[in-house]
Amino acid sequence: MFTPLTGRTVLVTGGTKGIGKGIAGVFARAGANVAVCGRDRETGEAAAQELGARYVIADVAKAADCERMVDEVVREFGGLDVLCANAGVFPDVKLADMSEADIDAIFATNVKGTMLAVKAALNPLEASGHGRVIVTSSITGPITGFPGWSHYGATKAAQLGFLRTAAIELAARNITINAVMPGNIETEGLGELGPEYRATMESMIPQRRLGKVEDIGNAALFFATEEAGYITGQTIVVDGGQVLPEGQMAMDAQ
Ligand code: NAP
Repeated sequence: MFTPLTGRTVLVTGGTKGIGKGIAGVFARAGANVAVCGRDRETGEAAAQELGARYVIADVAKAADCERMVDEVVREFGGLDVLCANAGVFPDVKLADMSEADIDAIFATNVKGTMLAVKAALNPLEASGHGRVIVTSSITGPITGFPGWSHYGATKAAQLGFLRTAAIELAARNITINAVMPGNIETEGLGELGPEYRATMESMIPQRRLGKVEDIGNAALFFATEEAGYITGQTIVVDGGQVLPEGQMAMDAQ
């Protein structure tokens, strides 16, 4: 039995859609005060209403937005206990066609945005006495690859490089930082890719299903508990076993 997170304040960047919204929902149901950020106000306000959360408009790629976002949350709830640095983008383009602007844009949100959000939250997280940071990385980059996502994979691996040194620095402030590495997760955008794409993806996963956003939220919730306080600089893969098969033969032999 874990100590309840009732009354703790949680900020989820990119919490207005997809995995971030799932994480926010899990924390809200656990009794936490939840704030979500995203760039699109209409989507953000709708998500916040649905979640019973507070929406803060912010682009995590901008330092001033990250500082204002944290200030607004602290002003509203009186502090900040947990930051879920989840906002991310994943446009696909093969390396041969990739522009310098493509590379800059994905690093701005996924790497710089993660670092800026964590930096902006340091003081209130330290003041809480049990600060937690949970980064949403991916299996793509740190473990696997997929054509069209070389720049994306680089950003998701970079987040883990950041996390390992940040964990040492943040330990002195009683803040832990860990990462969740999702496999293929069912989000709003998946429907557009069609049933055939979905079936192919499911056939590569030993549990034969895509992940739910709550599967990621539950892993994030664990890292946020009092009982996970001695875990820092670590990662957890949440993928239904997707990274395990050596190849198609391993799946056929199932
Ligand atoms: P999504 O459905 O597209 O949601 C992305 C969220 O991030 C939205 O709320 C979006 O809101 C926000 N966002 C994007 N850029 C932002 C910025 N610069 N500043 C603030 N907010 C920003 O994506 P998702 O699939 O849930 O992905 C969320 C995270 O999970 C990402 O880090 C991604 O790399 C990771 N991930 C996803 C999967 C998967 O299967 N879906 C697998 C592995 C890892 P606005 O657009 O309004 O800003």
